[in-house]
Amino acid sequence: MRYAPHVTRVDAAVPCALHAVCEGRASSARDALGVHFAMHDYGQRAVAARLVASAPHQGVARQWFRSPDVLALLPFDRPQPACSYALVWSLPADRALEVQRLEPAAFEQALAEATRGAAGELRLAGERAAWPLARGQAERVSGDGWVLLGDAAHLVHPLAGQGLNLGLADVAALVRVIAEREPWRSVGDAKLLRRYARARQAPTWAMGELTGGLLHLFASQLPLARELRNRGLTLVNELPPLKRWLTARALDA
Ligand SMILES: Cc1cc2nc3c(=O)[nH]c(=O)nc-3n(C[C@H](O)[C@H](O)[C@H](O)COP(=O)(O)OP(=O)(O)OC[C@H]3O[C@@H](n4cnc5c(N)ncnc54)[C@H](O)[C@@H]3O)c2cc1C
Repeated sequence: MRYAPHVTRVDAAVPCALHAVCEGRASSARDALGVHFAMHDYGQRAVAARLVASAPHQGVARQWFRSPDVLALLPFDRPQPACSYALVWSLPADRALEVQRLEPAAFEQALAEATRGAAGELRLAGERAAWPLARGQAERVSGDGWVLLGDAAHLVHPLAGQGLNLGLADVAALVRVIAEREPWRSVGDAKLLRRYARARQAPTWAMGELTGGLLHLFASQLPLARELRNRGLTLVNELPPLKRWLTARALDA
């Protein structure tokens, strides 16, 4: 809000033609609209923390698929320029609680084992937090005078780093639908807003399936799944056009 001077903050509801609800996964406005939010608990929690590394990150994000957990290091410039990471470590729920409670030295040791020193020596630079991970989908994302966007509309596992992208794609789709409306149609017209809902249905469903599928593939101990993920990742790594295609699909969320 500090960086958005064109936004007016109000303390109470004001009459409007279109109410765009983007309150996150626990949206109270969505509940007040009577929209059911179907949740599937993945039985995992994500442990997040800010880290400082002994080596510069050079703008590279890293991710380890370590059946059953997934560890991601996302480059940041704070607190230490060029050497900071945001950690997102998804683990089975009971293991995540143990990891969150480890003494800082033991936590850093667990990080060193998981990353095998590939990002240098990693030190904690703040408190650890944890989130339960779930897949969620609102039964409806539009109605007369309202739409749901972002996590209020859908929730995916963070292993593919696509949750925020999905929300931004919602915004882009809504803007497009409103800009292309017939001149006589109000921005809150239920029929108009159904175009937004239809435009977002397939990409949102596909991303939920993709992240859920990847999670099962990487969590499974079955020999076939192990073989598939090893060969699959090597194949993706060795075929730049395939890698580019997958990245483009992700950016087009
Ligand atoms: C551990 C973890 C790691 C993730 N990593 C990635 C990643 O690498 N890449 C990626 O793309 N996504 C990632 N995600 C997902 C991403 O964080 C979410 O998809 C994104 O933040 C959703 O944005 P949102 O604005 O819809 O909801 P939120 O980020 O939840 O924001 C909603 C905001 O609205 C506020 N609010 C609620 N009700 C009201 C009200 N009545 N009035 C005013 N304000 C209200 C809330 O306090 C909150 O600040 C991750 C998620 C988790 C849990």
